[in-house]
Amino acid sequence: MIARTAHLKAMGIDVWVRRGAAEEGAQAVVAETGRACASLPEMEGEVRACTRCELHSTRTNTVFGAGNAEADWMFVGEAPGAEEDRQGLPFVGRAGQLLNAMLSAIGMTREQVYIANVLKCRPPNNRDPQGVEVGRCEPYLHRQVDLIQPKIIVAMGRFAAQSLLKTTRPIGKLRGERFCYSSTDIPLIVTYHPAYLLRSPADKRKAWEDLLFARKVLIET
Ligand code: URA
Repeated sequence: MIARTAHLKAMGIDVWVRRGAAEEGAQAVVAETGRACASLPEMEGEVRACTRCELHSTRTNTVFGAGNAEADWMFVGEAPGAEEDRQGLPFVGRAGQLLNAMLSAIGMTREQVYIANVLKCRPPNNRDPQGVEVGRCEPYLHRQVDLIQPKIIVAMGRFAAQSLLKTTRPIGKLRGERFCYSSTDIPLIVTYHPAYLLRSPADKRKAWEDLLFARKVLIET
């Protein structure tokens, strides 16, 4: 019980606060097949030069992904924000700090996992990604998964979950279920986006439960 409370505290969870509302909305996307790069560094170079969609004209840096290229766990978010665009690294702003705490709550560090986004460039003013942007960019993410071959994928937030699962089901109806990524047998589970959790801290407990569920799925796989 003490350890459980410590883990909850590591994520900044008030153990007595009950949850709030779920995330909203829905969006379906269509993927396009990209050229198969032979390695992550090769693909990173390709992404750096990418002009497949208009986001290239407003980005400062591409944000390819970071972490252990042989990771068992792969975390997927939506798109870079301002700080990520500035540094060229995923989840380095406030949401990233919470992601670090979430990882620590299940005994992991960023260096042990791989972190990527559906989009590799920041949408201006953090607007929602558009279908055409996802269609052009998603092949990179699919190839990253092919190269990394994670043992589990955690989709963070409605956008990543719906993009990866090709569904319009709301996030509240996707959590707690074991899906498979694309046509593979790699398990995929859904949790809230850290940025959402910053706005709705009462749901941090549910995110922690999602990560415990993911760990259980991984152990049983
Ligand atoms: N939000 C995301 O979805 N990805 C990031 O890299 C940062 C914030």
